[in-house]
Amino acid sequence: MRERRRFFVANWKMTRTPSAAAELARAMAALARPAGVDIAIAPSFPALDRVRAALLGSGIALAAQDVFHEREGAFTGEVSAAMLKDAGVSLVLVGHSERRLLRGERETDFARKMARLAEEGLAPLYCVGETQREREAGRTRDVLRTQLGALDGFAVPPPGLALAYEPVWAIGTGLAATPELAAEAHAHLRAELAARFGEPVGRATRILYGGSLSPASAPGLFAKEEVDGGLVGGASLSVSDTTAVLAAAAAPRA
Ligand code: PEP
Repeated sequence: MRERRRFFVANWKMTRTPSAAAELARAMAALARPAGVDIAIAPSFPALDRVRAALLGSGIALAAQDVFHEREGAFTGEVSAAMLKDAGVSLVLVGHSERRLLRGERETDFARKMARLAEEGLAPLYCVGETQREREAGRTRDVLRTQLGALDGFAVPPPGLALAYEPVWAIGTGLAATPELAAEAHAHLRAELAARFGEPVGRATRILYGGSLSPASAPGLFAKEEVDGGLVGGASLSVSDTTAVLAAAAAPRA
């Protein structure tokens, strides 16, 4: 019997004002939630409270797109794990490729962020994935292993840890990975987790796929035993696309 429930995480990125995000969240909350699929939505920081209110009673969890690695203090513009917890957040994205590329954040930053989240009992969704150039150079496995180095300081995995395999070349491009390619990367990540933390952790940790998930690409990707759900950007801003992707997530695996 499989141990991992499917997980759909919406990343709304820097789109939607708080009012527009609340309206979209109300529409998402009204959707029939398919059995066996957990759902979380990550709006922008200023929209967290309005989205939290819109999701009340829906069973959809509130997520954040990032966190700062320090506990408290003179860090203008940053947001702490304790602040996110108090705002009703339960899941936080760490290591998204847009943070890596735009802000130069690295494994040492992600390790510190995950340590802070663990202190507050917040679950990290740690994002990894290779660039086109790295894939073409045959370096995908090495890159993923290096990125998992953010977990080096943990004797046991951060509570609630899930991974998102997001090949950078697939994000926002309309070119999703093939199901075979995603399944291979997920199997590699699972083996790496098992090597670090033991087989039961490897088996139990959810690994989501992200990168141009859509009503067209989701059924093939979710048919793979290795793919435990999706981190979804563009399609998560559309109620009809979300409905279709959720239906694919709820379908039995091959
Ligand atoms: C993402 O940003 O995590 C993502 C997967 O975006 P998109 O679905 O738009 O490719």
